[in-house]
Amino acid sequence: MKVDFYRHNIDDADIRRLVETIHTPFITTGLVVAEFEQRFAAYLDVAGAVGVMSCTQAGFLALKYWHIGPGDEVIVPAMTFLASATMAAHTGATPVFVDVDPKTGLIDPSAVEAAINSRTRAIVAVHLYGQLADMRALRAIADRHGIRLLEDSAHCIEGVRDGVTPGSLGDAACFSFYATKNITCGEGGAIASNDVDLIAGTRLLRLHGMDKGAAERYTKTYQHWDMIMLGYKANMTDLQASMLLGQLERIEALLERREEIAQTYERQFRQIGVEFPIVSDGRSARHVFTIWTDADHRDRVLRELQGDGIGVAVNYRAVPTLRYFVETYGFRRGQFPIAESIGDRTITLPLYPSLREEQIAQVLDSVERAWQPPVGP
Ligand SMILES: *Cc1c(COP(=O)(O)O)cnc(C)c1O
Repeated sequence: MKVDFYRHNIDDADIRRLVETIHTPFITTGLVVAEFEQRFAAYLDVAGAVGVMSCTQAGFLALKYWHIGPGDEVIVPAMTFLASATMAAHTGATPVFVDVDPKTGLIDPSAVEAAINSRTRAIVAVHLYGQLADMRALRAIADRHGIRLLEDSAHCIEGVRDGVTPGSLGDAACFSFYATKNITCGEGGAIASNDVDLIAGTRLLRLHGMDKGAAERYTKTYQHWDMIMLGYKANMTDLQASMLLGQLERIEALLERREEIAQTYERQFRQIGVEFPIVSDGRSARHVFTIWTDADHRDRVLRELQGDGIGVAVNYRAVPTLRYFVETYGFRRGQFPIAESIGDRTITLPLYPSLREEQIAQVLDSVERAWQPPVGP
């Protein structure tokens, strides 16, 4: 492979911090997680954050905190990673898909409005590829109907749109530190919110509903703990948090480099007529750079890029077209035409700070070659 699809940015200082943490007595949830939570909330400028095992768990715990479950409906965009829907399905609620904007791939507020009924309890807004969804419109809809607004912010820690940042307008936002995300510890996630009760409640839910964490139970004089509610086992460990602290400090510089690369891609693709989702205004977290071919050529272009040694992915095929959703909910093709079309046309290119100039040039050359004979409508 000439150009890996993804390379993480864990550096020697991060590794030293991880090793130091391994030498502490309790390597589960402790002071390092607490420090990360504090710094993450400060970066986002929200009231609090809770470290968990994954974004999927983070979203699930927020929905559980709101007592969403069987008989309830949760609105989810059809163009996203499947976890935006499974975090709702795991509660027993029914995911109700809505179509997306054809220029950005983001959840379409008018489609959300049309899907709301008396069973609707929440909207999952996905900040697809790093660009925030239209949070002001979605907040107004959620308020008008008295329902919750959960941000699936797995792609977007650093974004801004209309002055809105992740976690600031949603009732809660969930984040991912999975292996390919902008900052990563292999697996990990967080909940962030301005609702301090939700922060306290999901903190209980992430660890068995126990009112004292391991750090408090072991490091101070012994205290009896109690179980307040039926919780889960989803707590982030100090090992995970120790890898994230340094990356969070470097997060702006890492974004700056991805922004540069994304702009290089965009400049070149505009010239040769390659379509890509637009970043309308504000700042994208630039998590994923995807190009949109046409449905007849996508798999050929994808194979040619791979043949040239370029790592590629598909983010994503429309979720309701995946077999589980077809078999469980009876979705048919044609129900979400825009999301399905994007899902049939999309190819994700490498986008990470350690990409070298000659690798960027290789990606551009390879796309340009694969684009002949002309691909497009
Ligand atoms: C990666 C991702 C998730 C899931 O994150 P995990 O931490 O792996 O649970 C959820 N939603 C979107 C949009 C993602 O890209």
